[in-house]
Amino acid sequence: GKGIAVLTSGGDSQGMNSAVRAVVRMGLYVGARVYFIKEGYQGMVDGGENIVEASWSTVSGIIHKGGTVIGSARCKDFRDREGRMKAAKNLIKHGITNLVVIGGDGSLTGANLFRQDWTALLALLIKKGDITEEERQKYSSINIVGMVGSIDNDFCGTDMTIGTDSALHRIIEAVDAISSTAYSHQRCFILEVMGRHCGYLCLSAAIGCEADYMFIPEFPPAHNWEELLCQKLESERSMGQRLNIIIVAEGAIDIEGNPISAEGVKKVIVDQLGFDTRITVLGHVQRGGSPSAFDRLLGCRMGAESVLALMEATQETEPCVISLDGNQAVRVPLMGCVLKTQAVAQAMKDRNWDQAVQMRGRS
Ligand code: ATP
Repeated sequence: GKGIAVLTSGGDSQGMNSAVRAVVRMGLYVGARVYFIKEGYQGMVDGGENIVEASWSTVSGIIHKGGTVIGSARCKDFRDREGRMKAAKNLIKHGITNLVVIGGDGSLTGANLFRQDWTALLALLIKKGDITEEERQKYSSINIVGMVGSIDNDFCGTDMTIGTDSALHRIIEAVDAISSTAYSHQRCFILEVMGRHCGYLCLSAAIGCEADYMFIPEFPPAHNWEELLCQKLESERSMGQRLNIIIVAEGAIDIEGNPISAEGVKKVIVDQLGFDTRITVLGHVQRGGSPSAFDRLLGCRMGAESVLALMEATQETEPCVISLDGNQAVRVPLMGCVLKTQAVAQAMKDRNWDQAVQMRGRS
């Protein structure tokens, strides 16, 4: 059978284990040999005990765990050809010609580069005497499929990334908990949530929690936002509301591009309204803990689809990402999505917010 390897790379997210599990089980079901590559690309470069064959039972009892049981890492070596050469040698040693990469846009860019470089890498390995001519011919191509694991939901080409829904649940739980204590003491709470340059988590949480105000990177507030914020909070209180909830995305900025921080918002409220105001930075709590039902199912479906894509791939098949389109797991061109994701990041940097939001749409 075909040799398939699965790795998780970049920042972890809930639901990655479900995806890994589905790759292993679907892979075995279709008669492939499946390998774990531990610690992301670093494990692929280092080889040895980082590459181990998976069995049906090795992925039992992991679907409910947060993070990734096979480890993730950022790997400098893989950015250099020398590192990628070592990685290629390690794959050939195990007869692996199919790779499933679960990570962010950086990890998928690396995977694409690895595939483009494959023929050249084999030529170098031949030259060094690390592989034989028979091996070069037998392993002349590698197929790649990606899945996006990220709580930020910042990847173009998929409706949801693996982990976003769980992070959103965690945020909403936290806001609910904070709301009850805020109510008792008539306090104003400012929560900072993750998402990098994407306001998805902040916006969704704000809607789901009846927040009074939110700040997201895609929609910098007007010049007089301090005034508008205070008016809104005051009007809520005058109508009998005992608390205020404000959610700030970590990438929030004002119209000039300056960061809007929880501290900055607090200062405005305390100075102008004198409300008892507290800050809660949720931090890595959002990335941890048990994956939601949605993320477990998403991981299952994407993982299974990624194996089917590899089974059908030929030498000419371009790498794809498994994405969620409505309620369907579908294949979309990997590099197209990565380039679009990077273009969005650039548009955000250039303060072309409307363009960024438009580009982030599904296709
Ligand atoms: P996250 O969204 O959590 O940041 P990511 O996959 O974007 O995830 P990166 O740190 O950008 O995270 O990339 C993870 C790893 O992928 C890097 O440590 C590196 O090994 C590899 N990688 C990223 N970009 C490239 C590249 N251009 N060439 C080769 N390898 C790369």
